This record gives sequence, C-alpha cells and structure tokens, in this order.
Amino acid sequence: MSNFNFSIKAKSGNARSGILKTGRGDIRTPAFMPVGTAATVKAMLPESVESTGADIILGNTYHLMLRPTPEVIDRLGGLHKFMNWHKPILTDSGGFQVMSLSKLRKITKEGVEFSSHLDGAKYMLTPERSIEIQHLLDSDITMIFDECTPYPATHQQAKESMELSLGWAERSRKAFKNRDGYGQFGIVQGSVFEDLREKSANELQNIGFEGYAIGGLAVGEGQDLMFSTLDFTIPMITEERPRYLMGVGKPDDIVGAVLRGVDMFDCVIPTRSGRNGQVFTWNGTLNLRNAKYIEDNSPIDENCSCKACQNYSKAYLNHLVKSNEILASMLLTWHNLQFYQDLMSRIRSEIEANNYDNFAEEFLAKYNSDNS
Ligand SMILES: [Zn+2]
Repeated sequence: MSNFNFSIKAKSGNARSGILKTGRGDIRTPAFMPVGTAATVKAMLPESVESTGADIILGNTYHLMLRPTPEVIDRLGGLHKFMNWHKPILTDSGGFQVMSLSKLRKITKEGVEFSSHLDGAKYMLTPERSIEIQHLLDSDITMIFDECTPYPATHQQAKESMELSLGWAERSRKAFKNRDGYGQFGIVQGSVFEDLREKSANELQNIGFEGYAIGGLAVGEGQDLMFSTLDFTIPMITEERPRYLMGVGKPDDIVGAVLRGVDMFDCVIPTRSGRNGQVFTWNGTLNLRNAKYIEDNSPIDENCSCKACQNYSKAYLNHLVKSNEILASMLLTWHNLQFYQDLMSRIRSEIEANNYDNFAEEFLAKYNSDNS
C-alpha cells in the first residue's frame, strides 16, 4: 500500500473524519493547517505549533521563491530541516500570491510574469517552475499552479480562467514527480457557476490527483454564496480523496464547510488576529485591546491548555497588546492556534459520535449570538 492515502473513519451526515497518511506522518481530518508563510508560523516556535495539535502546516511558494530561494533551501536540506518542522508541509503553488501581491503581472498561457514586491525584480512563474520549487522545498503535498478566479467574475471570465487553470493542471501533473509518501492536489475552479465547477471537477479527476482543493472561494463572495457553491461542488468530487477548502476561514466557516463534507482548511486568520489583539473563544471573538479588560483578572478561557490561558490574565494581555509588546503576539497567536486545533479535535469527535449536525447547530447559535 502506498504511503500516501486517505481513509474515512466515520461519517455523520456529509461530514467525515479520517486519516490522510503521508510519508512524514498522519494528518487527522478534518484538519486545520496553520500558515507558515516565510518558513515560520509567525510568532510561534515550531514545537509550540506542534503542541497545539497541528499535524501539518502550510508554506508559501511565492515568498520562499523570492527569499531565500528554493535552491538555497534545497542545498540546506529542504524546508522541514531549514525551519525545524518535521511533520507534513503543504505548499501552495504561488499562483494566488503572484496575482494578489506582486506588481506588474502579465498572465499568458505560458504562465505569469511578475515583479517581486520586495525589490521589483522580474520573475516568470509557470506550472513547471511552481512544481519544481515545491519539489526543491520537499513539500509533502504539492498544489497545482492555477489562477484563483477573482470575485466577482462574469460567466465568460470565470470560464476562461477555469480553462486556463485546466491547461496548467495538466502541465502541473506532468511536472510532478510521484514518489511514495508524497501527493499532489488539483484545484477545482469555476467561481460560483455550477456548470463550470462541474467541468473543472470532472477534468481534474480525469487527470487524477491524490486530493482535490476547492479554490476561488472566500474571496469576497460572502458566507452564504460560499456555502451554496460548496453544496453543489462537493458532490462532484470523489468521496475517496481528501477535499481541501483553500484560505478558509473563521470558526463558523469551518464548522459549516465540514457539515458539507470538507476535510482540510488553512487560513491566516488565527495568527493574524492574534497579532492584532483579537482572540477566538467558543462564544465568539474578544478584542483584548478593549478597556473593559484593564482589570480583568481572568484568563481568556479557563478550559484552554495554551500558555496564555494557563499563566496570564486578560488584564496582563490587554497591557501587552496596548504596549505593542512582542509577547502579546506570541501569546495571542498561541491561544488562537490552540483554539483552532481544539475546535478541529471537537469536530472530529462529534463526527465519530455521529452527532455532527447537532454540534454544528449548537456551535453556530452560541458562536454567533455572543460575539463581542
Ligand atoms: Zn488559550
């Protein structure tokens, strides 16, 4: 049996819990992947990320191709050794960030020509180069190079974008060196149009990938449209492969997407929010900058096992946030990543107890109503 495979342990409605086996270890699904943009999950030691229960993190091709470059990382022994994270890493293809961050980009059938946001230097990113970079990083899960269709898009624009991505998907698969323990995911595009999502899903599955991502969502369409697009897109993707919703999301987005059959997520929200003084709890978000915490001697969450909750009061965290102390970013990021992993763990156990629909309903009612 291959050392890269996905098995479903339990189902509850459309929600599934399972194990994605890779050469560097098992990923319990539904899984949340903290984002390690520049070969670091910002403000966290890798062992602290691991202590929250994360089985996998995400790395960014675009940032690492500019600095320190994949060739340097390869000569230093690969991304895992470089950043001291020895569990699986999924890398994005760079496509999304080339199109959103870089200057002077020019998209052709061949690929994307762009100027670095760091120094203006010119680069060309093609499907072949993107996969080569991800190989040099020794990524456990490689993503195909695609265009994340902006929102809103007309049917014609979404169709042209999806077809461009299908051509790139074929080239990405050809460039992928299939080795035991490694996998590559295709990315279903087509914006919010059912016929385009169907064509994309079918053709990607004809090429054949180890998993399928749903791209082009969480780009400004709003939660209702994201969920309705998932409602028709998920059944187009085989049950036998992991399904990854890219760039999602807030806790209520995750709970709702799992309800529809999604297995994997990544998002900068918990880490970025932590650096901005915002924390997640089972009742919603708290802004620790708020004056009401100046003398609040209680922790963020008494039941949370993170270092912020075990050792510090909201009053102290409020002081650190207002003083722009580095420790504020460290502690609040830690709490948020712990909350996200606790949420995923709870999601998995509710699925295994075949109680996911009830859990989702209760969670959403409580999470939305108490937001402060
Ligand atoms: Zn905590």
